[in-house]
Amino acid sequence: MTLNCQEVLDEIHREIQPLIGRGTIPDYIPPLAKVSGKKFGMALQTTDGQSCEIGDAAERFSIQSISKLFSLTLAFRLVGTSLWKRVGREPSGTPFNSLVQLEYERGIPRNPFINAGALVITDIILEHVDDPQKTYLSFLQQITGIPSVKISKTVYQAEIKSGHRNRALANLLKDFGNLRHNVEDVLSFYFFQCAVMMNCTELAMASLFLANNGEAPVAGEVVSQRHAKRINAVMLTCGTYDAAGDFAYRVGLPGKSGVGGGIVAVVPGRMSLCVWSPALNSAGNSYAGTKALELFTTKTRLSVF
Ligand code: GLN
Repeated sequence: MTLNCQEVLDEIHREIQPLIGRGTIPDYIPPLAKVSGKKFGMALQTTDGQSCEIGDAAERFSIQSISKLFSLTLAFRLVGTSLWKRVGREPSGTPFNSLVQLEYERGIPRNPFINAGALVITDIILEHVDDPQKTYLSFLQQITGIPSVKISKTVYQAEIKSGHRNRALANLLKDFGNLRHNVEDVLSFYFFQCAVMMNCTELAMASLFLANNGEAPVAGEVVSQRHAKRINAVMLTCGTYDAAGDFAYRVGLPGKSGVGGGIVAVVPGRMSLCVWSPALNSAGNSYAGTKALELFTTKTRLSVF
């Protein structure tokens, strides 16, 4: 099917207007509360080189938990499937920052896309690279082809200051013997990842390898085809936390969200998308963003189902 992607995105942009701003802007990371709830952007990149965007697609925002997608990818590159010894791959059914399950399950997080799982993935990366911050940023710069990708120091500092729940999770993991590095080093690198600033177009480009059998157009093979398939599977089942079932039902694509209001989604073999609108639903996923992706798959009939 040939797709006039600009026409589809323009249509979505018109239809989504009444829903922009619906939901809540998170304030537990204070700089995130300063972003206008009126923002909305969407971009897509196809595996055959088309790209389209609408609205605020060129404005950078805090990628937050979308970073967990790139951290998992990096960890896969470093240690392969042995990472599953320390983190599971089942949906959690609990909020992304929940502590209770981790206590019950003796320090093995359910999956890499909740905070506890991402802290373990962070610990794994720390073990294998000398300069983790530089490695992380240059990985993102490589797969987007955009050297100016960087973090917001304001968001980074705010998370260090206000990250009590993440600190609790990291301490619990340490107590169960599932962190090798010290708690503050793991937290610091984890907050660094969350504080990366990117826009929809850059994020669609950064996740295109997942639609393209592991190959990034600008950087070549990022992961093997098998690993790309597995990352997509974990995104579908766990990428939107305890709303992953509803997201699969409505949107029908692997997706990864962040509390900055961004959601990345992948149509395997075809394209990657990113949508951004800062007001969140009760599970911490962009309200208008989820609706826009739902409109997209309904209009184009592109879904994995
Ligand atoms: N930095 C955020 C946190 O640790 C990321 C959460 C998210 O985007 N869901 O709470």
